[in-house]
Amino acid sequence: MAGKWTNWVGNQSFKYASFAQPSSEKEVVKAVKKALEKKQNIRVMATGHSFTPIVETDGLLLDLEKISGIKAVDPYKQRAFVGSGTPISALGDPLWEKGLALRNQGDIDSQRIAGAISTGTHGSGTEFGSFSSILRSCRIVTGTGEVVEINEKTPDLLHAAQVSVGMLGVMVGMELQVTKKYKLREHIDHEPFSDVMRNFHERVKKNRNFSFFWFPSEESAALYNIELPPGEKATDTCHVKVFNEARESEQVSDVPKRRVDRSYRIYPMFYSPNFHELEYFIPLERSVDCINEMREYMLKNLPLSIFPLEIRSCGSEDGFLSSNYKRETLVVSVSGMPGVDYWPYLREVDRILGRYDARVHWGKLHFLTKQQLHDRYPKAEKFIKIRKQFDPKGVFLNDHLRPLFAQ
Ligand SMILES: Cc1cc2nc3c(=O)[nH]c(=O)nc-3n(C[C@H](O)[C@H](O)[C@H](O)COP(=O)(O)OP(=O)(O)OC[C@H]3O[C@@H](n4cnc5c(N)ncnc54)[C@H](O)[C@@H]3O)c2cc1C
Repeated sequence: MAGKWTNWVGNQSFKYASFAQPSSEKEVVKAVKKALEKKQNIRVMATGHSFTPIVETDGLLLDLEKISGIKAVDPYKQRAFVGSGTPISALGDPLWEKGLALRNQGDIDSQRIAGAISTGTHGSGTEFGSFSSILRSCRIVTGTGEVVEINEKTPDLLHAAQVSVGMLGVMVGMELQVTKKYKLREHIDHEPFSDVMRNFHERVKKNRNFSFFWFPSEESAALYNIELPPGEKATDTCHVKVFNEARESEQVSDVPKRRVDRSYRIYPMFYSPNFHELEYFIPLERSVDCINEMREYMLKNLPLSIFPLEIRSCGSEDGFLSSNYKRETLVVSVSGMPGVDYWPYLREVDRILGRYDARVHWGKLHFLTKQQLHDRYPKAEKFIKIRKQFDPKGVFLNDHLRPLFAQ
């Protein structure tokens, strides 16, 4: 059945020739083999929360919604075995009932686990890698229709699969490293920019999850549905979010900006589909210079740059295409307004952050060239070698990915 697909925010859409919603690994194999016979390219969709054309295909579009849920847990090793179509939001309650939880989460929990893992989706905090870093094993239906099991005994394959942007094949079952369940205590404050930067590194290290939104203009906060304290100005101030672990016995609290609750209830916030986002990762030690340079640049470029600058950090990890490969990173996000020509602004952001050796978020707007891929990702060549092993004919590549990863 042919059709048209559009992502969550509406900046990517394409027409596909066939669509399938398999409900088992066997059915995935059947659908992949059928597409190979028809010489169709194949991509998997999740919830379409990526801003880049990484789902696009004119051939077979696979939806793994029916391969969902927690299949088993190992409470001793703190592992969960899940279907790759499981939404992150569907993991919280059942894991909690088993005494477990995800170690960290990002700004939303609508993504499916395989979508989040495939792009290196992350939260904040240098103690944690991205979702990709918790992948311990998975089963993949490759570009030849074979099923390959990847696990810790095949570390190179695992590190390739941890951030693969769907290029190794269809991920079906996955094993995740989780942790003992925990509560979080939120501490959200409105602070002048200069106060936040005074002891930036100390706050990153001292707190479990430290992040902030810096507002370049009075309109900025409302664009991300952030309420300012009554009577406060937004320009050049920050909305600072700090989460630390609460004691098990601590009372649940719903006091705004000071909530205490199960971890997975504290992390997510609410976004409207009104922004097109770019997100780059630079070495953590260069944070202060980078944030100051971004602030000056954004203030000069009002009103194009009125969306907040989001600042987070992420821990070092081993995924070959991970933005945090073997380094702690500062994560810098900016957005353009749909309907406005924000490309010259974002290109300039790319130029500035490029001087800081920036890696990119695969699910967010970027301008990465092939040369930059090889310069900034030490294991790019190794990833490409493994990709070719899994998909010799390149059926899982598309026009966005081919120039970077075909050879
Ligand atoms: C409002 C909003 C908030 C966000 N917050 C954060 C955040 O806090 N932190 C962060 O890092 N990112 C964030 N993102 C980005 C988002 O997490 C990523 O783009 C993520 O990949 C989207 O997940 P998805 O389930 O929608 O996957 P999709 O965008 O649908 O797919 C992502 C990729 O995964 C591949 N894929 C999906 N399932 C499979 C499978 N079973 N096998 C093989 N390949 C597969 C797809 O082909 C595609 O290449 C946010 C995005 C939005 C729109």
